[in-house]
Amino acid sequence: MASPRAGRVDVHLHLSRWWRDLRRTAYRPDLDYSVRGLLTEMDQNSIAHGLLLQLHEAPTVREGLGEGRESAAASSGRLHPVSTVDPTQGDDAVREAIRLWEDERGLAGVKLYPGYQAFYPHDRRLDPVYEYAHRRGLPVLLHQGDTLDGLGLLKFARPIEVDEVAGRYRDVRFVLCHFGNPWVPEAAEVVYKNENVYADTSGLLAHPSVPYFDRMLEQARRVVYGAVVTIGRPDRVLYGSDWPLEELKVAVELVHGLDLPEKDREAILGENARRLFRLPPL
Ligand SMILES: [Zn+2]
Repeated sequence: MASPRAGRVDVHLHLSRWWRDLRRTAYRPDLDYSVRGLLTEMDQNSIAHGLLLQLHEAPTVREGLGEGRESAAASSGRLHPVSTVDPTQGDDAVREAIRLWEDERGLAGVKLYPGYQAFYPHDRRLDPVYEYAHRRGLPVLLHQGDTLDGLGLLKFARPIEVDEVAGRYRDVRFVLCHFGNPWVPEAAEVVYKNENVYADTSGLLAHPSVPYFDRMLEQARRVVYGAVVTIGRPDRVLYGSDWPLEELKVAVELVHGLDLPEKDREAILGENARRLFRLPPL
């Protein structure tokens, strides 16, 4: 078993009782979908820390936070919860979420789901969220690109829609999840232009059962390589998997096989996220 002390960080994990249809959507139907199962897989891939992204399916912000807190407590400081809020629920819902976050000392970030919840990242109803993120120094992660189910609306999930708000809140760090897939070059441009914008490499592969899966790793690697070259530097690119959708081993292989200097690959696999989320060394 590889040592977790190598210090890799996975910025995109989901461990939730509200995950839908685990048998069909997980990369393996008999996956050990628990803190223990996740930590074992992290150990096998030298991943020290992971971010647990609350799902938009969680019935309330409070319940999602409680679940994240429990998982974090059971992980010896290796898993870090990220909360979410739906701005289409109204100003009171946004205010209540912020009030709950205020008491949540272990919170590592805020995740938003445009595309699933039909709002643009530059929606003014989100201003209190961005102001709070600024005040507390919390990165804001945005779901980008393709949605897991057919009910999503892709127009809300395009990287170009993040450009305006990244300019409005220069002191807030934004993460474009899934590198904006399939709009990866568009995401690369938004990262290149805005020094407060990052992108993660999660969820770029389909389910292993699709006929062309064996070709997808190579294609995703080509696309990510092109994006890093467009950005011109590796320090705002973050490794993520989207576990349980993707196997950690395969997600790490995507980055590890990039035609970049070893130190840049390792920065993408750990150091960049450790700096962004201020994670302690293990
Ligand atoms: Zn995800």
